[in-house]
This record gives sequence, structure tokens and C-alpha cells, in this order.
Amino acid sequence: ALGTAPSEKVAPASVCAQSPRRGKTIAMLADSSQLIQIDGAHGEGGGQILRTCLALSLRTGRPFQLSRVRHNREKPGLRPQHLVAVQSAAQLGAALVEGAHVGSSELTFSPQLTTMSAGNYHFDIGTAGSAPLVLQTLLPALLAADGVSTLHITGGTYNPKAPPFDFVARSFVPALRLMGITLQVELLRPGFYPKGGGQLRAVITPCARPSRLDLLTRGPVLQQRATVLSAKLPAHIATRELDVLRGALRWPASSFTVRELPDSYSPGNVVLIELQSERLTEVFSCVGERGVPAEDVARSCLQEAQTYLAAEVPVGEHLADQLLLPMALGEGGQFLTTQPSLHTLTQIDMLQRFLPVHIAVTQKSAATFLIAVSPVG
Ligand code: AMP
Repeated sequence: ALGTAPSEKVAPASVCAQSPRRGKTIAMLADSSQLIQIDGAHGEGGGQILRTCLALSLRTGRPFQLSRVRHNREKPGLRPQHLVAVQSAAQLGAALVEGAHVGSSELTFSPQLTTMSAGNYHFDIGTAGSAPLVLQTLLPALLAADGVSTLHITGGTYNPKAPPFDFVARSFVPALRLMGITLQVELLRPGFYPKGGGQLRAVITPCARPSRLDLLTRGPVLQQRATVLSAKLPAHIATRELDVLRGALRWPASSFTVRELPDSYSPGNVVLIELQSERLTEVFSCVGERGVPAEDVARSCLQEAQTYLAAEVPVGEHLADQLLLPMALGEGGQFLTTQPSLHTLTQIDMLQRFLPVHIAVTQKSAATFLIAVSPVG
């Protein structure tokens, strides 16, 4: 199915502020004189630092040296998903790379090109590593390519602590559309740990300078639904999860559904809570894991959704850290959100290291924060 759910009201598209000039495929040599040194243990200290470095190095042509890669994670260093992000970014930017192997804790990346060639790219993570996160790594570069690109990524599409496909399709993509970015995503096969094998396809239309995004009010929630995704698992798991959600949310019975995923190679389970307001949709999720009771999976998702609902802000925790990069590459803007996560604060620091942008966080009330992204010059 294409990214937009049939029942979803499509927000009016904004116009991209600036697309790259077509037909100009002459490669520009990147500026290798300005090596940026980044400590991978900074702030959140996870894979996001690496992905942001790759994306912005491709966009700016500036090389970087990343030390202590993913230092704050249980298994530090490059994992297969991160290695594929490095290799695919290197392919796009014809980059010279040192330290690109699984387990590596130090990486140097020097792109030789700053004008990306549009094309049809296939990348296989080879494990259940997150395909949406590889998409997010390459997206900024392909937004500045010389034509429409297609990305086909094989790996996990439902991973703990990563954006699930449904969040990408129904929250991230429509939010990008508000900035004039046209991205289509399609789930060809769901992928769960351990076998992976999930496939997502993305079609990226260039938009080098996304237009300004202002999301200061949420307004009433217009549509709400809770969905349990279930692959090769006994029916009682979804039933127990829905019981927890029904008890807490008190929505009409038609708001709760179970969707079977028969194509998945591995068993898997995801709880999704989707809240559609006037200008955007938020998708909260929790991926079931072996040893975690179904009730706890449902409660964890519920807690995130309830924090968001109580704060009455438009942008939730995860969308906040993911919107900052396209905003910083474009005309900026501002949004109201919940307490910024360490991911968000780290992302703000990273963006300011690479780009001429100022990002300010202002607390507006006990539970609401304004984040303003202002390009400099
Ligand atoms: P890292 O932990 O540094 O690899 O970064 C993980 C990324 O996945 C961050 O951008 C998070 O906001 C994002 N993420 C984690 N969990 C979710 C979720 N449930 N929904 C959407 N995005 C998520």
C-alpha cells in the first residue's frame, strides 16, 4: 500500500522553495579542507550522530572524522545497519572512507562529489537492521539530486527504538509534504528481528531547499485509531494488547483493529496508536520483544500517546528530532513539542556543527517547548 492511509485527510501540499537545476549533472568537487571532528559519545551517543554526519557531509561536501562511534550503546561501534548507511552514502557521494567495518569505532568520510546523481538504488542491510533509518540517512542527499530517485532497501521495517514503517508513511512523509517535499514510501514486505528480509521502496523527488514549516497548534484530534500488527503469533497477544488500549482510551470499538502480516519471515508484533489532527498525524508505536509481556508493550505505546495528548502540542518526541534536519536544510521554521529528548538535543548540536543555522529551544509551560530553526545568512 502507498504511504497514505485511505481514511487519512491529506494536508495541502506546500511548494518546495527550491529544486536543484535539472540537467546539471557535472560533478562538483567537494571541499575536503574543512574536516569536522565529531565525538560519537556526545549527548545521545547513538547511531543518529553517524547518520546525521553522513547526510550533512553529502549535502555540504565537508568531510568528517567520527570517533567513539555509538559509544553509549550496549554494542558500540558500527552495526550492519550503520555499515550499510556508510557504504550507501559513500556510493552516492563517491566518498573516500576509512574504518568502514562492523565493530569499527572510528570513521573518516570524505565525499568527492556534492552533486548527487539521481537513480534507482538497491541496498540490502543483510540483517534485520532498520531500513527506515537507512532511508533517512540518504534522503537529504537525494533531495538535492538532479532528478527523481528510487530507493529499495531490504532489512527490518519494524525495529525497537527506530521509526516503524507506519510512522514513516503516515507521520514523517505527510509532515515533509508540508515543507514541499514529495516522498512516496511503500512497504513491500514487513521485516522483523531476527530474519529481517523486509523491503521498503521510496521514491524521492528533488527539493533542495524545503519551505518553511510552522506547527504551533495542534487543534482537536480529528481521527484516532489503534492497530496491532501481528505476524505468525498466537491471537491472544493482540487480544491482550487491545484489551489494555480499549480500557485506557475508551474510543469507539471501530477504532481498534488487528492487522495480520502473513508475509513476514519472522514472528513479530507492533502496537500503533495514530492520532490525526488538522495539520499532521502522529503515530506512536511499540515493537513487541521476546520476554516482554504483551500488556507492557501496549502500556509503553499508550504512555507515549498520553504524554503527547496531555501536552496538546502538534509534534511528538520522535517526529521532533526527525524534522529538524530537513528544516535546517530549508527555510527553517518552528514547532511546539513535548520535553525535547536527548536525541533532539544532540541533533540540534550536530546540525549547528555542519550548517549555518541557529536552533533555539524555549520552554513555554511545564510540558511544552518551542523549537525554532533559523538559517543564518
Ligand atoms: P539512534 O538511537 O541514535 O539510532 O536513533 C534512533 C532514531 O529512531 C531517532 O531518530 C528516534 O527518534 C527514532 N525512533 C525511535 N523510536 C521511534 C518510534 N517509536 N517512532 C518513531 N521514531 C522512533
